[in-house]
Amino acid sequence: SGFITIIGRPNVGKSTLLNHIIGEKISIISDKPQTTRNKIQTIHTTDNSQMIFVDTPGIHKPKNKLDEFMSKEISLALQDMDVLIWVVDESLEMGPGDSRILESLNNIKIPKILVINKMDKLSKDEVNKIIEKYKKRHDFADIVPISAINGKNIDKLMKKIESLLPEGPKYFP
Ligand code: GDP
Repeated sequence: SGFITIIGRPNVGKSTLLNHIIGEKISIISDKPQTTRNKIQTIHTTDNSQMIFVDTPGIHKPKNKLDEFMSKEISLALQDMDVLIWVVDESLEMGPGDSRILESLNNIKIPKILVINKMDKLSKDEVNKIIEKYKKRHDFADIVPISAINGKNIDKLMKKIESLLPEGPKYFP
């Protein structure tokens, strides 16, 4: 059981991924838009463990001071988190949004999984190139290429997430 945060710049496929996870895995969902910023999904899995997924669309709307805003959003979302999922897409070049997130990661002590989404648009070579590029920049617990739209490798991602979560029930009603 545990809290999982999904971050990433707009349009990388965070919602698509979350919807896929929910559709596949889940017996009960409660969707509480607790703040304007964070969409929170509580998931009771079939083996009775619980996962809380937090999507952080607030990251999408930085104001003037991008740096400050991003790190504030991320640290807010990360209170009590157990695992961080950072979603990037098939872009071969890292954009400014991704670079900012990358910088923030050093201050976050929980395990981080890099998800490379939209692998359906990439050749194997391109996937490997992207993996190598990010590997050089940060020490991730794992890097998982997926296709959120057709569900490819999401089972693998879920296994990895579960392996990084604390054992036993947490405290969610
Ligand atoms: P978010 O802003 O990060 O939540 O991104 P969305 O989930 O809204 O997805 C943005 C766009 O990318 C949508 O048009 C999706 O259909 C598309 N998309 C998401 N996942 C994939 C994928 O695995 N492959 C492809 N080709 N497109 C995807």
